[in-house]
Amino acid sequence: MSAVMWFRRDLRLDDNPAWSAATSEHGEVTALFIVDQRLLDAAGDLRRNLLIANLNALDADLKERGGRLRIEAGEASSVLANHGGTVYWNADYSPYAIARDGRVRKQVERHEVFHGNFIHYPGHVLKDDGDPYRVFTPYYRRWIETDWPKVSMAEGTADIAGETGQGIPSGADPIIEPGTAGARKRLETFTDVVDQYPDYRNDPGRDDTSHLSADLKFGTISPRTIWDHLGTGTEGRRSFLRQLCWRDFYAQVLYYFPHSAKASLKPGYDDIGWLNDPVDIEAWKTGQTGYPFVDAAMRQLVATGWMHNRTRMVTASFLVKHLLVDWRIGERFFMENLIDGDPAQNIGNWQWVAGTGTDAAPYFRVFNPISQSKKFDPKGVYIRRFVPEVAALDDRDIHAPWDAPPLALAEAGIELGQTYPTPLIDHAFARERVLTAYKTALS
Ligand SMILES: Cc1cc2nc3c(=O)[nH]c(=O)nc-3n(C[C@H](O)[C@H](O)[C@H](O)COP(=O)(O)OP(=O)(O)OC[C@H]3O[C@@H](n4cnc5c(N)ncnc54)[C@H](O)[C@@H]3O)c2cc1C
Repeated sequence: MSAVMWFRRDLRLDDNPAWSAATSEHGEVTALFIVDQRLLDAAGDLRRNLLIANLNALDADLKERGGRLRIEAGEASSVLANHGGTVYWNADYSPYAIARDGRVRKQVERHEVFHGNFIHYPGHVLKDDGDPYRVFTPYYRRWIETDWPKVSMAEGTADIAGETGQGIPSGADPIIEPGTAGARKRLETFTDVVDQYPDYRNDPGRDDTSHLSADLKFGTISPRTIWDHLGTGTEGRRSFLRQLCWRDFYAQVLYYFPHSAKASLKPGYDDIGWLNDPVDIEAWKTGQTGYPFVDAAMRQLVATGWMHNRTRMVTASFLVKHLLVDWRIGERFFMENLIDGDPAQNIGNWQWVAGTGTDAAPYFRVFNPISQSKKFDPKGVYIRRFVPEVAALDDRDIHAPWDAPPLALAEAGIELGQTYPTPLIDHAFARERVLTAYKTALS
């Protein structure tokens, strides 16, 4: 009997529970990907090209097994209604995916759903009373001691259908090596430095984090494969796995609190008097705020589709707290530009920075972009990589060019306001302003 494997955010054949079951339980399997124009349009060029390259890589892996990836376009429920037999997929937990999959369930003859994309899928790690956690640390304590759901990951022996349907859309070269092969190389490279992860994970100039986020977003590698490969044997490895726990945590938060996709998770935070000044927003998006650490990060995002976690926090905080811009505006810009753009992770982190989400810390923590720069990029390695206009300043002056002596500026070829912007806003002023705005909203 034939079956359909509906690939979505699990573009791999290894450690893929739905694929394993479909190819074990049936004689022939159609490997199907449905192009959803709405999701394709929401992604910027870099993420779209990476998706297309990941589809080509999956197709190549299927070819080695004698089959092809079939591509169809349209509403998933209409497309799948035309396929007979059992449809297999791995669950996706965003509000959009849940609504879409609900429609599909009603249209198909039979379906089998698996959990393939998290260490612990949403709903698996809950409090004793069955409620979801809102704070990370207690969630983590339970997460680390909870057994994994065990499923057979071995691929079966089914024949794979050879029709390609409408074929994979064309795209430009991806910004990173795609597919499971690319993900495995990134994992190997990271294995050499994982034991120093706690020392270097906050250093954007070194850039020694795993860079596996886009692989996890598209599912070219599973988080359990990463865990199996690295193990928990050292402090560095445990510290890294704690980051994977954040990923599970935010997926679960959005699953149980879907309103947080559009509104503050915490009640009372929707009344903040955002300014949303278009000039400020444009300066932030284009890396022209006059704060080199912030500008370096925003330029990294637009040029590479990726930004270091430390600077994601600093730039997000700068937009929300310094410029008083609604976190949802920043969230949308990140979502469009990130190759790892993922609703649950992006929304959860933006709300954390804005103080409107799961953060246990109070809203009055405002990142200081100058001290963050001095602490995490002391030698200006990261700044120099992305902001050549200030590269000739020495390590002391590069974090706040406006404080540099006039002679140092002249020697570095900088005319503030001409060759590089003067700061968009004064830090002390911005801090007072945002504290007042939050206090007023919450009173
Ligand atoms: C404002 C903001 C927006 C973000 N948006 C996204 C997003 O859209 N997609 C996304 O995958 N991550 C997002 N993150 C989380 C984090 O910055 C990235 O996952 C990380 O920088 C990716 O690089 P890496 O794979 O080298 O991370 P590593 O340090 O190697 O971490 C390994 C993995 O752990 C997970 N992880 C690490 N930090 C976090 C975190 N804070 N929250 C959730 N998971 C985490 C990721 O899956 C990551 O790939 C955001 C963070 C902030 C502050």
